Formats: sequence, C-alpha cells, structure tokens
Amino acid sequence: MTVLIRGKELAEKIVDEIEKEVKNYDKKPGLTVIIVGENPASKVYVNKKKKTAEKAGFNSEVIELPETVSQQELENYIDNLNNNPAVDGILVQLPLPGHINAYDIIEKINPEKDVDGFHPVNAGKLVTGLNPYAVSCTPYGIVRLLEENNIEIEGKNAVVIGRSNIVGKPLASLLLNRNATVTVCHSRTKNLKEICSRADILVAAVGRAKLVKADWVKPGAAVIDVGMNRTEDGKLAGDVDFDEVSEKAGYITPVPGGVGPMTIAILLFNTLKLFKLHN
Ligand code: NAP
Repeated sequence: MTVLIRGKELAEKIVDEIEKEVKNYDKKPGLTVIIVGENPASKVYVNKKKKTAEKAGFNSEVIELPETVSQQELENYIDNLNNNPAVDGILVQLPLPGHINAYDIIEKINPEKDVDGFHPVNAGKLVTGLNPYAVSCTPYGIVRLLEENNIEIEGKNAVVIGRSNIVGKPLASLLLNRNATVTVCHSRTKNLKEICSRADILVAAVGRAKLVKADWVKPGAAVIDVGMNRTEDGKLAGDVDFDEVSEKAGYITPVPGGVGPMTIAILLFNTLKLFKLHN
C-alpha cells in the first residue's frame, strides 16, 4: 500500500515545537523578508512566511520594494539588516527582476543571517560536509520528510530531477552526505525515464506539470514532488502525475500539502537556529 507523506502534518508539528521554545526566551527571533516587484506567486509565499513566523512568536517584517529598485539600493537594505541586531534571518524572495544580479545580492547577506542557506559560504559548507549556518529550506525539509517516515537513505539510489541552486544541488549534497548514491538529472539528461526507474528515492524539482509518469517509477520507490505548477485550468499540479504514480510508489508526497509546508517550517527552524547563534 502506498504511504501518503503529508508534509503539512510534520510542518505543523515543527512550527508548534518552535512556538513552544520561543515562549521560553526574553527576546523574539527576527526574520526579515525582502520582496521586489509585484510577482503574485512571490506575494503569496511571502505572506505565508510572515503569517507562520508570527504564529511561532517571531518578529517578522516584510520590506516591499518597487520593481525599479536599483542593485545599490537593494544592497543598502541588506547592509542595514546585516547590521541590525534585532534581525536574525534575512530572506530575499526570488526571482528578482532581470536588472538585479541575484548572485551578488545573495552574497551580500551575512552568511550568519542567510536563512535560505543560499550564500556561497553556506552552500560550500554543505558540499564539503561541514555544518552550514543554515541549509536550504526545501531540500532540508525533504530530508526531514524522508527521515520522519523512516525511509532509508544510506546505500539507496537517489535520483534528483533538477539542478537548481535552491533545490536540486543542495538536495543532492544532503543525500550524498547521508550516503545515498545520487544521480542529478536536468534538461539535457538522456534516458531520463530509464534513470528514474532505477531510483529508490525519486525527487522531481523541475517545474513541468505531471512530467513523471508511472512507468518512470520503480515499484515501492519513495517519490517526492517539489513542483508547483499552474495547469491551464488554473489548478495547482506537481511535477509528478499523482494519480498514476501513487498506484506504484511506496511513498508519495501530494501537491499541495507535501513539500511546500515543510519549506516554511524549515525557514522558521533556520531562523531560530540563527537566533540562538546570535544570542
Ligand atoms: P528551476 O530553477 O527552473 O530548475 C528546474 C530544473 O529542472 C533545471 O535544472 C532544469 O534543467 C530541469 N528541467 C527542466 N525541464 C526538464 C525536463 N523536461 N527534464 C529534465 N529536467 C528538466 O526550478 P526550481 O527553482 O528548482 O524549482 C523547481 C520546481 O519546484 C518549480 O515547480 C518550483 O515552483 C518548485 N518549488 C517548490 C518549492 C516548494 O516549497 N514546494 C520550493 C522551490 C521550488 P536545466 O538546468 O538543464 O535547465
């Protein structure tokens, strides 16, 4: 029987635990999110992050900047936040407008305040097996989901479809650090279906609705769907064809209610970790 991995439940448990812990402190952890422009999806994510952070008892601030903000102005905001002792975590919501160099912006964030774990110091620590100040939220959330469901990682074949700096690459490092044999696939990968069909753990982080079909999946595999895609009828769909694949997988995450809520829970987990580092 296929086990449905409900990330929402674990995420709520993590947020509740954080809320209890925060009540014991005199100070509140501070999380500041910068959002540039009017991207509707980004606005939804940022609102969710703020609401959940407030529920957990954090000081949560959102800085909304116009699409026309310059690189220098944005870097000045980050400098101010880097120097503000009330701010433990800084998150710049991606994507940024085309005229902004996102790499330089991420590099501007103090690595000890980089809640997203995207700064090269944190990404580098992860790859080299050192302890990053924070690990990217979505990949770490996925590992927590696997661990919580007692899905063995060590020695298993893990296939990650997608090689972005925010999901695919850090996830590959996390799985490798836990002794999986990891294959990372991307748009130029040949024989994608055949590679996926050998995976004990298959993670789709692509951004293509229902790309992964049942005949791509090894019977009993753990299938983790990171994708969040809008279909033509306006519905939210993952990268995995859930109806087909859930008949064959051993474990599967739904969309919504799977990986998404874990991303926010880990964001709070990271903020609390950085708060403890600073206090
Ligand atoms: P991204 O930066 O666009 O990366 C997508 C990756 O998929 C790239 O490596 C790309 O290959 C690869 N790819 C594209 N088409 C492919 C194909 N047909 N076959 C194989 N590989 C293909 O996206 P991302 O930021 O990693 O996000 C991926 C998905 O996860 C999106 O749907 C996003 O909305 C979702 N997401 C969800 C959460 C969450 O909390 N649930 C968090 C982050 C992202 P190339 O490198 O060769 O271009």
